[in-house]
Amino acid sequence: MIRFYQQPKLDFFDTVKSVLKQYLNMETEFGGFFTPVKTAYNPVRQQYDSYLVLKSITEADKKGYDYRLAVVDVDLYATGMNFIFGLAHPLWRSAIVSIKRLYGEKLIERLHKEVIHEMGHLLGLAHCADAECVMHFSNTIDDTDVKHCQFCDDCRSRLEG
Ligand SMILES: [Zn+2]
Ligand SMILES: [Zn+2]
Repeated sequence: MIRFYQQPKLDFFDTVKSVLKQYLNMETEFGGFFTPVKTAYNPVRQQYDSYLVLKSITEADKKGYDYRLAVVDVDLYATGMNFIFGLAHPLWRSAIVSIKRLYGEKLIERLHKEVIHEMGHLLGLAHCADAECVMHFSNTIDDTDVKHCQFCDDCRSRLEG
């Protein structure tokens, strides 16, 4: 069971739930609205430290859900990266995706790809060299638009292996 969180005013639960069922055959339940912790905000970068936001989501979960997934609309960064579309922490079984850099006509499609990608990490997958595989790393939004929601045969067999 995946516990889903989103920032107030976002409305992505239904679409994320259906795409996770479709591509990973996983069930998702709504965990509520949350606001990224203020201590994760870096005023110099005007971005949120994805690691700290993810940590707070993980620590707030007292019930120990199988997986936690959050969607936010603030800009995220990680050490050594100008920005990131999302972050997964397999040991914590928690992942986060930001829509901040996904806006446009393809917002929902991009969100689907990034959500499946981060869940793939939680399920043990690494990045994939196949540019069309959902596990391909997105350095830019073009990378996201090139890849599909599907896992390539190699990644699919690792998932099922
Ligand atoms: Zn990744
Ligand atoms: Zn792959």
